[in-house]
Amino acid sequence: MYGPGDVRVERREAPRIVEPTDAVIRVSAACVCGSDLWPYRGVEELPWPAPMGHEYAGIVEEVGAEVQTIEPGQFVVGSFWATDNTCEVCRSGYQSACVNRVPMGMLGAQADLLRVPLADGTLVATPDIPSDDLVPSLLAASDVLGTGWFGAVAAEAGPGKTVAVVGDGAVGLLAVLAVKQLGAERIIAMSRHDARQRLAREYGATDIVEQRGDAGVAAIKELTDGLGAHSVVEAVGTHESMTQAINATRPGGHVGFVGVAHGVAIEGMDLFWSLVHLHGGPAPVRRFLPELIDLIWNRQIDPGKVFDLELSLDEAAAGYRAMDQREAIKVLLRP
Ligand SMILES: [Zn+2]
Repeated sequence: MYGPGDVRVERREAPRIVEPTDAVIRVSAACVCGSDLWPYRGVEELPWPAPMGHEYAGIVEEVGAEVQTIEPGQFVVGSFWATDNTCEVCRSGYQSACVNRVPMGMLGAQADLLRVPLADGTLVATPDIPSDDLVPSLLAASDVLGTGWFGAVAAEAGPGKTVAVVGDGAVGLLAVLAVKQLGAERIIAMSRHDARQRLAREYGATDIVEQRGDAGVAAIKELTDGLGAHSVVEAVGTHESMTQAINATRPGGHVGFVGVAHGVAIEGMDLFWSLVHLHGGPAPVRRFLPELIDLIWNRQIDPGKVFDLELSLDEAAAGYRAMDQREAIKVLLRP
């Protein structure tokens, strides 16, 4: 990306092993993230020109001398942070705050080749080379599914709970899928968009709320005897969505927030009186990857359905445009 709205596909120097713990993978599929739209829309500054993309799945080409568990020829999925998976923070399940983490976005996964630092800690190999139809779902595990899943876990979604999801982008829709898998009783998806409502229902939503802001909160209270949901997943990151998530949660309930925050400013007194648990941040996707890959491999979940537009990598600029205009939920790029 050369600046807001300016995406170009160009030839760069091929990535190679730099550290002995690196791997280089041939990317089978990459994609455009909702968070890539923040710089695209000029809301977030990057050191232009910036390589883009942090979601990836592909086949290992080469590994460094110290890599032990990952081998050339394996199909692998990794998270948007490269992490050692051995430090204390990683071992406690918060790999996204690994003391040695490296942001994959800086390396640019929207490419045909990608260097992955800390390969042993970052990458998870699938049991075999997947059939082509599984690739989108495996790619989804790299970020949007893992992030939606963390939102659901952070919101303590589970049996007997009523869970609301704020946000109908790929993360919000996959949070619905995660909430369903975690056994929630009632799932309220907030969306005013036909195709997204349909997918939310397919993923397990039992109710749809179209209203936003205070009206959205009132609609959720109406569905929950005036109490609010036990759990709310926030998957947008704006002040309005965060306020809506907190206000739609009953006292003692849990908010899992995974939308990258832009302009969120919650009043201390509002927080004080809310009596809700707040947990969120950049998802430790690596914690969930083995389980998610297993569910996908055994065809128990189909998160790849969030990709409603597939383009070749050369058409990346059109992919950004389609997501920016909300013509596509999520764009898959095939190198
Ligand atoms: Zn670590």
